[in-house]
Amino acid sequence: MTATNAFSARAFGAASPSAPLAPLQIRRREPLATDVQIEILWCGICHSDLHQARDEWKSVMPTVYPCVPGHEIVGRVVKAGRDAKKFREGDMVAVGCMVDSCGTCPSCAAGTEQFCFAPATFTYNGPDKHLGGVTYGGYADSIVVDERFVLRLPKGLDPASAAPLVCAGITTWSPLRHWGVKKGMVVGVVGIGGLGHMAIKFARALGAHVVAFTTTAAKCEAAMRLGAHEVVLSRDADAMTKRVGTLDFMLDTVSAPHDLNPLIACLKIDGTMTLVGAPDQPAPVSAFGLIFGRKRLSGSAIGGIRETQEMLDFCAEHGIAADVEVIRIQQINDAYARLLKGDVRWRFVIDMSSLKNG
Ligand code: NAP
Ligand code: ZN
Repeated sequence: MTATNAFSARAFGAASPSAPLAPLQIRRREPLATDVQIEILWCGICHSDLHQARDEWKSVMPTVYPCVPGHEIVGRVVKAGRDAKKFREGDMVAVGCMVDSCGTCPSCAAGTEQFCFAPATFTYNGPDKHLGGVTYGGYADSIVVDERFVLRLPKGLDPASAAPLVCAGITTWSPLRHWGVKKGMVVGVVGIGGLGHMAIKFARALGAHVVAFTTTAAKCEAAMRLGAHEVVLSRDADAMTKRVGTLDFMLDTVSAPHDLNPLIACLKIDGTMTLVGAPDQPAPVSAFGLIFGRKRLSGSAIGGIRETQEMLDFCAEHGIAADVEVIRIQQINDAYARLLKGDVRWRFVIDMSSLKNG
């Protein structure tokens, strides 16, 4: 850790796994040579924020308190370090789930910084090598980030609806691209929430026939409006039986423990199921379900910085963004309760100007 000057910023965070989120002051470093300081205008609410604010991932990445979540950040550059080349004061930018990585390991060299061997530093609850303690996320009025981890917000994207793209967007875009989703493929999206609604839009834009799997009957029509060609109620055993062996690729975005086996049964021979949802409990998987059909079960984490910029540019070109409900930061605890009930269409985004009101 080097001696670094810091300033005070307003934020909202959790003091313990059971505490409601409340106002607090945090420290941000003064921008170093290649840093930019960003005034945060919008911040999306990801289910990962809730998992971590409540320490639900304690067996894998325990939460350090206070925890200031938020990794779907859009804002304006207000200061740029003397060696910053990509951005200038006034630029509209975005910051997703990572703020640093080693830059030299094979993963970083390949543009997959999320798999940095060091490992990557996450936007919140990661070790802060400048100030000590942990990093603090986007439920704050400002953030200071090395420009390598800052994305350019393309013109034409509405800033509030673009914020979820840097987590929900890239997390679904990356595996769809990795597994070559294209016209002629039948693609299943499991769980229609913040990630799931983006997956439907992307799979449709890539030309696939899209089948949405949901536990919520009330979401069926809305899923079709998002771009699904068909919707299946995943707790209806008859409906699931009809889908056995029909899908080339499935993306599971579900946030809670659930049975993967009937979903894997829906894959064709050589089909792939990718998990992006991160429930706090492991899921039992029958070997037979994979063996008979040579099926693949895989996982994926967000995406690299270059790929995230490509995704943002694709969204601007194709008029794609998240469907959002804008809230004030003072509504954050109610928003978490509603997220747990699946009562959001489809992503909460915080208007961070509300932070000025205490
Ligand atoms: P979300 O908006 O809450 O959506 C999750 C959806 O899962 C719900 O809308 C619901 O869809 C379904 N679901 C919830 N409980 C269920 C249950 N008991 N059984 C079956 N389905 C259930 O959450 P999100 O923000 O999209 O995040 C989804 C997950 O992805 C979270 O675990 C999050 O931490 C993880 N995530 C992972 C990455 C990554 O890099 N891999 C990145 C971001 C987020 P239906 O009502 O349609 O069934
Ligand atoms: Zn997220």
